[in-house]
Amino acid sequence: MVESLQQPATGPADSGEIERFDAIIIGAGVTGLYSLYRMRELGFTVQAFDDGGGVGGTWYWNRYPGCRFDSESYSYGYSFSEELLQEWDWKEHYSAQPENERYLNYVADKFDLRKHIRLNSRVTGATFDEEANCWEVRLEDGHRARGQFLITSVGILSSGYVPDFEGIHDFKGPWCHTGKWPAEGMDLAGKRVGVIGTGASGVQLITEIAKEVGHLTVFQRTANYCAPLRNGPIDDQTQQEIKSSYPDIFKKCMETPGSFMHQFDPRSAMSVSKEERHALYEELWQEGGFKKWLSNFYDVMLPGEANEDYAEFVRNKIRERVHDPVVAEKLVPKDHMFGSKRLPCESGYYEVYNQDNVLLVDVREAPIERITPKGVKTIEAEYELDVIIYATGFDAVTGSLAKLDIKGIGGKTLKDKFAGGPRTYMGVSSAGFPNLFTINAASVGNFVRAAEPLVDWVSEAMAHVRDHGHSRITATVEAEDAWVQHVNEDGAKVLRTQANSWFVGANIPGKARVLLTAPDTAPVMRAKRNAVSANGYEGFILE
Ligand code: NAP
Repeated sequence: MVESLQQPATGPADSGEIERFDAIIIGAGVTGLYSLYRMRELGFTVQAFDDGGGVGGTWYWNRYPGCRFDSESYSYGYSFSEELLQEWDWKEHYSAQPENERYLNYVADKFDLRKHIRLNSRVTGATFDEEANCWEVRLEDGHRARGQFLITSVGILSSGYVPDFEGIHDFKGPWCHTGKWPAEGMDLAGKRVGVIGTGASGVQLITEIAKEVGHLTVFQRTANYCAPLRNGPIDDQTQQEIKSSYPDIFKKCMETPGSFMHQFDPRSAMSVSKEERHALYEELWQEGGFKKWLSNFYDVMLPGEANEDYAEFVRNKIRERVHDPVVAEKLVPKDHMFGSKRLPCESGYYEVYNQDNVLLVDVREAPIERITPKGVKTIEAEYELDVIIYATGFDAVTGSLAKLDIKGIGGKTLKDKFAGGPRTYMGVSSAGFPNLFTINAASVGNFVRAAEPLVDWVSEAMAHVRDHGHSRITATVEAEDAWVQHVNEDGAKVLRTQANSWFVGANIPGKARVLLTAPDTAPVMRAKRNAVSANGYEGFILE
C-alpha cells in the first residue's frame, strides 16, 4: 500500500513532561479548527493533535483526483468572521480539494491557530482521571497531555475501510484507498487501473482518472443515483454578489433540513399533473449540485410514490447517456430507494462507460473472490491490473472513535460501549465519560453549517461548567437511553435508514446496523440543544 503522508511530528518539542490545557481537541479539520478558535475566544487554553501532516482533516487526506465539494463552495465556508468571508474568493461553484485545503490553511494562519496544533501526532489513547477530573491523552510518540475537557473532532468519515479481501497484500503493484491518497500522487497515466467502489468518492475519481489511464476496470457492487454537478468558475460579478449576500445565504442554510442553500417545494409531487411534475424535474436537472432534489417536491425525499417517480426519472437520465444498453442497465440503480444512500454528483461519470478502454464489472453478479499478485479475481474471471484503488468508503462515525481507546469512569471503553451502536445524548456526550464531547457525531448535511452551531453549543457548555465552578459535565443514563430510543424509533422512518450504507453502519461487515447520526433535521437539533442549555443543561449531571 502507498503510505506517504506521514512525517515526523511538528509542534512543541517533547520534553517528556505532561503538558496541561483546559481542553484537548483531537483533529484539526473543519470542526477541530473552529473548536480551537471558539474555545480560545472563550478563554480556554487549548491544544489540538492531528495525525495528518497538515491541517484540513478530510480535505487533507482525500486528495484523490476529482475530489471536490458537492455543496456550493460559498455555503461551506466558516461564517464566524466577516473579514474572512470578504477576503476569501472561492474560485469555483463546487470547489476542488486543493483549494479547500488551501482555504483551511488560510484560516489556520489568519486566526493564528497553528501554535495550538501538533501535527503528525497520532493519539493512541485517552483516560479519564477520576480524582483530578481531567483527561490524559497519550500519543504514539509517547507524548502525554492533560485537559479538563476532551473534544473529539475526528470527522464522521475519517476511518478508511478496505475490505478484508483474501490475498490483498499479494498484489505486486501499488494500491491505495481514496481517503489516504499519497501527496505525491499515483502514477496512473497509461496504466491498467482497477477501481473498487462506486460511492461518491469512486464516482469523482473514476470520472477524472478515465482521462489518463490506459485501461480502467470498475468493480461495481451497487449502482448509485448520480446527477450532474454542473460546476463552473465563479466570475467577478458573481463573486461580488456572493460576498454581498452571505447573510442571506447562511440564513437560508439555517432554515433547511440539511443546512444546504435549497428549500423544498412545499407541494407534493403527486398533487400536480405528470406534465407539471416533470417540468420541475427537468428544470431542476439543469441546475447545479443538490438543488435537483433539495428544491424538488418535498416528498421526493420521503419513502413513497413520489420518491419512486423521481427515481425512475433519474434512471432514464442514466439510460440516455450510456450507449450500450446492457452496460446502462448495470448502472441503473434498482435495489434501493432514491436518496436512501448518499447521492453522488458527477461531471461526466456516465460517459466514461462509453470509452473503449473502460470495463464495468458487476461484482454483485460475480463477487470478488480474492486479490492476486496480478490483479482482481472474481468468481468468473481474473482482471490483470497495474494499480488497484479502493474507493470502498469509511467505518463512519464510530470507527475513528473506537480507534482512540477512550477510557472513562471505571476504565470502561467507549469502543465497548458503542459496540451495538453509538450510545450518546444528542450525539455529544456519553454517560460514564465526563467532560468528553464527541462533536464528530453531528447530523448529516452541509458539514460546516452543522458544525459551527454545534461547536458553539459545546464551547458554551464548557464555559458554563467553568463559570459555575463545576468540575464535571456528563449525560445522565436516563437522557442517553431516551436519546438512543429516539434515534432507533424515529430513525427507522427516515429515508437514509432504508438502504445498506454507512449511514447505518451496514457497509462494515459485523457492525451493528443503527442510524449513526441524529434522525432530526438541523433546525430541530439546534432547537433541542438550545432548550437543554436554557433549562440548566437538562439531561446532564453537573458536579
Ligand atoms: P461509500 O459511499 O461507502 O462507497 C463505498 C463503495 O465501495 C460502494 O460502492 C460499496 O458498494 C463499495 N464496496 C465496499 N465494500 C465492497 C466490497 N467488499 N466489494 C465490492 N464493493 C465494495 O464511500 P465513499 O464513496 O468514500 O463515500 C462516503 C461518503 O463520503 C459519501 O457518502 C459522502 O458523504 C462523503 N463524500 C463526499 C464527497 C463530496 O462532498 N463531494 C465526496 C466523496 C465522499 P455497496 O454500495 O454495495 O456497499
